[in-house]
Amino acid sequence: MKAYELVVYREKCHGCGNCVIACPVNAKNPETWGGKGPYSDDVVIRVENGAVAIINKDLCGGCGACIEACPVGAIELVFKRK
Ligand code: SF4
Ligand code: SF4
Repeated sequence: MKAYELVVYREKCHGCGNCVIACPVNAKNPETWGGKGPYSDDVVIRVENGAVAIINKDLCGGCGACIEACPVGAIELVFKRK
């Protein structure tokens, strides 16, 4: 089990797609840049219906790039205690 969990707050998100572009896992799937395009499940996050959605949490490496890219604090990594 991972020591962290990716959490998104859809109510804060305005759907800019910055996080989707910033994520290095998503970058392997260029069709998802900007949060749009044909959808693959090999991405961690994308914009769906105007707000960020977690698609495949297992692929997240916990790098934090999405958090840095988000202007409104709509993504967090929550670290679990042992
Ligand atoms: S923490 Fe890193 S790997 Fe995980 S969703 Fe954010 S940018 Fe992608
Ligand atoms: S979570 Fe933040 S960076 Fe990602 S689409 Fe929403 S507002 Fe933009």
